[in-house]
Amino acid sequence: EEDCSGTAENGFMLPEVKFTKLFINGSFVDAVSGKTFETIDPRTGDVIAEIASGDKEDVDLAVAAARDAFDDGKWPRLPGYQRGRIMMKFADLIEQHVEELAVLECIDSGKPLLVSKLVDFPSVISMFRYYAGAADKIHGETLKLAQELQGYTLKEPIGVVGLIIPWNYPMLMFALKVAPALAAGCTMIVKPAEQTPLTALYCAHLAKQAGIPDGVLNVVTGFGRTVGAAISSHMDVDKVSFTGSTETGRVVMEAAARSNLKSVSLELGGKSPLLIFDDADIDMAGEICVAGSRVFVQEGIYDEFVKKIALSSKEWIVGDPFDPRVNQGPQVTILEAFYFHMLLVVVHECLPSIKVDKRQFDKILSYIDHGKREGATLLTGGKPCGEKGYYIEPTIFTDVKDDMLIAKDEIFGPVMSLMKFSTVEEAIQRANYTKYGLAAGIVTKDLNIANRVSRSIRAGIIWVNCYFAFDNDCPFGGYKMSGFGRDSGLHALEKYLKVKSVVTPIYGSPW
Ligand code: ADP
Repeated sequence: EEDCSGTAENGFMLPEVKFTKLFINGSFVDAVSGKTFETIDPRTGDVIAEIASGDKEDVDLAVAAARDAFDDGKWPRLPGYQRGRIMMKFADLIEQHVEELAVLECIDSGKPLLVSKLVDFPSVISMFRYYAGAADKIHGETLKLAQELQGYTLKEPIGVVGLIIPWNYPMLMFALKVAPALAAGCTMIVKPAEQTPLTALYCAHLAKQAGIPDGVLNVVTGFGRTVGAAISSHMDVDKVSFTGSTETGRVVMEAAARSNLKSVSLELGGKSPLLIFDDADIDMAGEICVAGSRVFVQEGIYDEFVKKIALSSKEWIVGDPFDPRVNQGPQVTILEAFYFHMLLVVVHECLPSIKVDKRQFDKILSYIDHGKREGATLLTGGKPCGEKGYYIEPTIFTDVKDDMLIAKDEIFGPVMSLMKFSTVEEAIQRANYTKYGLAAGIVTKDLNIANRVSRSIRAGIIWVNCYFAFDNDCPFGGYKMSGFGRDSGLHALEKYLKVKSVVTPIYGSPW
């Protein structure tokens, strides 16, 4: 990559960080306050760059720019195929800069470079292309009304949208929100997580190059309580689409309700069950189960399964995310590299990627401690590892009870709870014994069990004999306190559209 400079680490050139300011109305600008914050390399704790720290005034400027861009119609009224062409160009530019972007993502999030390059970025690029293709296929219905009226519906872009995203998949989350919003004809303010602002800013620059008009896509970096709160309580933002913790989701929704009743969609935490039945292929189950945070194993294969998983967790490599052999970067386990033949995305529980600050690191260790005190048996792991950075051993507990904290809370770390069950009914009931409903997995060869359990579990996606399997066309989102609204698929497009009915008398008679 022509612009790379900096020090070589494990053969990779660290890129110079070129974009550190807010992107508002097509230009990179300092925060009104002049404040900045540090973004940290989680491998070492070193400062990568100083990033502009936005606040309410900056959000006001970004919203005003987005509102003007929406109202003057230069994006929403552009023919859909032209929006699509510009989005295709945007996808091409991301693809052309993928080396530099993947390295930025890696140093900022601690995610293994190979995962970023082979899993996340291909998904990001294809996501933009998927929604580019959808941009000229947005249409309403014709209504057959009673009383000699005819009617039709229009699907219109919802307006100015705020997109608040977390640190675990910085670029994927960006694509999951920005691509359908662009396709729908919305204008937007993106707030990346404070831990991982680099790639969103870089992409803002590429969006401009691609021809996305000024004001359509704004990026305001900063903190949740400043930028995030200003977006969710803004009187001129029509919708906020949020991914993050259940706790913060509630705050966002409250702010939306108190301000202008803006539409909200929330993609929140999970504590997804994985159910492994007696007839399962135990090797397949072993591979899949690395992704489950609550793993229920039927009694007939439980003991064998525990042995197997204890062995395989020893082969797990925790270390520098730039090292291609590494499965798990600082802080959180990641085994997705094993699955890159599938399109994987989201699922920000248990085995996601990384960026971990000290706070998260300490929180995970305190959960592990809690598990021990509550009487669960520590099968493997349980300790920090490495001398620098925030690394934790892959940790597996057995003898976990449904009411233990480690079985109930979203830990967001490499901690798995193994539980034994006997009947299908029991498995369903215990799997549903959670306030969350993000995802679930089933491992069985029995189609009847698979069908029955799929219909009985209250979660937004059910993976049968796979896990983390994902596709652009596959909606993703929660039941219960995992939130509402769907990312990905054509359902996500609907989030950024509003339906208008137009009614007219058929014979022109006064009605
Ligand atoms: P986590 O970092 O645990 O994933 P958060 O839900 O706190 O979870 O963070 C997700 C995103 O929400 C981040 O971009 C963060 O800055 C933002 N955020 C945090 N607090 C607020 C808030 N009060 N209002 C709006 N956004 C917030």
